[in-house]
Amino acid sequence: MSGYDQIPERLAAVHARIAAACARAGRSTDDVRLIAVSKRHPAEAIEAAYAAGQRDFGENYVQEMRDKLHLLSEGGGCEQLRMRFIGRLQRNKAGQVVECGCAVDTVDSERLARALDRRAGEASTTVEVLLQVNIGREPQKAGVDPEEAPALAQVLAGLPSLRLRGLMAIPPAAVPGQGGVVDVDATRRHFAQMRALTRELALPELSIGMSADLELAVEEGATMVRIGTDIFGPRPD
Ligand SMILES: *Cc1c(COP(=O)(O)O)cnc(C)c1O
Repeated sequence: MSGYDQIPERLAAVHARIAAACARAGRSTDDVRLIAVSKRHPAEAIEAAYAAGQRDFGENYVQEMRDKLHLLSEGGGCEQLRMRFIGRLQRNKAGQVVECGCAVDTVDSERLARALDRRAGEASTTVEVLLQVNIGREPQKAGVDPEEAPALAQVLAGLPSLRLRGLMAIPPAAVPGQGGVVDVDATRRHFAQMRALTRELALPELSIGMSADLELAVEEGATMVRIGTDIFGPRPD
């Protein structure tokens, strides 16, 4: 559990990488939001990042997210924290995610969308969502195939309690936390395809980029990058 005292420096280093990539691409740093992925790290790690100015966080597992949000609300002091759910969501957990008041970045089916919409409607709230695209068409990855995105986007736009804001993708070979080896050309091509699709659908947000491919993502138009390892260190088992 040690090492969380390095979070402020690590956050600063990630911001510097984003700024350098923005400069290369002629973009404003205001247009790239850093999502700190805190999965498997304790609530104290979130508190440390929050104290260093971080406001947007991402979690992958519903129960873990609920437990941490509960601890953080008891502790007080993280009132401006914004949470995003970035993991695989089962329909029977839709209500729990709505209760958390988080955004959902991994909507990839009409059935999941309708479950979320119904729960949000019952709770008299709206849920911000991203549509997840399986840009590399990998059988083991979640997300719709790129050509199916427009039809699902249209369904999402018609659901009264969901607010579709953009697209999310994890490119081939990107294994969270296993950074290191990135096929630069292929990743850039996949990110560029995601940007084209986001434009075609006239959506404002594009969530691509993790610790290992952050620069490429920013250069190719990411408006959100999801960084875990390079902020919090290796995830505890
Ligand atoms: C874990 C995870 C990340 C963060 O990955 P790192 O390589 O640790 O930066 C980003 N996106 C998703 C969907 C993840 O599951």
